[in-house]
Amino acid sequence: MDLNNIIGHERAIETLKMALRNKTLSHSYLFEGEDGLGKKKIAYIFAKTLLCKEEGEEPCNKCTSCIKFDGGNHPDLLVVEPEKGFIKKGEIEELIKSVATAPFESKRKVFIIDDSHRMSLEAKNALLKTLEEPPEYINIILISSSINNLLPTILSRMQSIKFYPVELKKISDLLVNSHGKSREEADFIAEFTKGSVGKSIELATSDDFFQKREEIISLIDNLIRGDGTRAISSMNFFNDNKEDIDQILDIFLYWFRDLLIYKELGQSRLLINKDKSGYLGKQSFIDITRINDIIEKIQQTKGDISRNVNYQLSIETMLLYIQEEF
Ligand SMILES: [Zn+2]
Repeated sequence: MDLNNIIGHERAIETLKMALRNKTLSHSYLFEGEDGLGKKKIAYIFAKTLLCKEEGEEPCNKCTSCIKFDGGNHPDLLVVEPEKGFIKKGEIEELIKSVATAPFESKRKVFIIDDSHRMSLEAKNALLKTLEEPPEYINIILISSSINNLLPTILSRMQSIKFYPVELKKISDLLVNSHGKSREEADFIAEFTKGSVGKSIELATSDDFFQKREEIISLIDNLIRGDGTRAISSMNFFNDNKEDIDQILDIFLYWFRDLLIYKELGQSRLLINKDKSGYLGKQSFIDITRINDIIEKIQQTKGDISRNVNYQLSIETMLLYIQEEF
């Protein structure tokens, strides 16, 4: 794996390669952007390149440093991640101790702090001192999807590398070519994950994502066109899939969004559920105001559940709301 095999993120990768090429490396980088875009993967490849003995723009994958890196036992790489949601001061103190000792295998030492916004305030303050005057051989990479939760004094010492969602067509091609998905499935996933390569691959390789989507679509169809007894009986599905509720409600949201598009444009390339236009057609008797109200209700339910409002009650209320008046 090297930087040439990454899908998208051309600008971020070129910035890093240029610094390697021109030997204008920064001591501290901040990889910022939403979750699931591939920041961590690129941070690892960049770290491997920094440590590689060939000192090129890509890891050579052959030197002792690259081999140790791949084996997960490189002495000059330190990765800090949150444990139970937080990075505590103690972990940053370990890192700081390690800063002071010279590299062992390579010419540099690389520290990766994943989800760095999850550092406790004490941890952030401890890190700050290190960022002020790092020894020549140190490179620190902070990864974050929420930079507002980092101290401004930390941000001002980092070189920011921004990550954006990847072009959907590129993701779709990848899912068709390397993960055996049909074009319709691949397009659906790329849109559904809003351009996140990581999440797209996760869904493409999931055993039951499409099965679940089928169940949800038939459940919605029943709510809208059924005999009015369906809402409560579909509660089983929601109880069985509590862990994936966010994903499930997103499938709901995209469905009703598609229903709006279908009403305006009929079969359109703007639909995300292109393969289900038959169902959409049968449901298109619902008026636009009502669809917008339902979308709002689903969004409200998502919010309630993330704030730990009673799960059963939130879902039941939403289902009854969708079922109402049909
Ligand atoms: Zn190497």
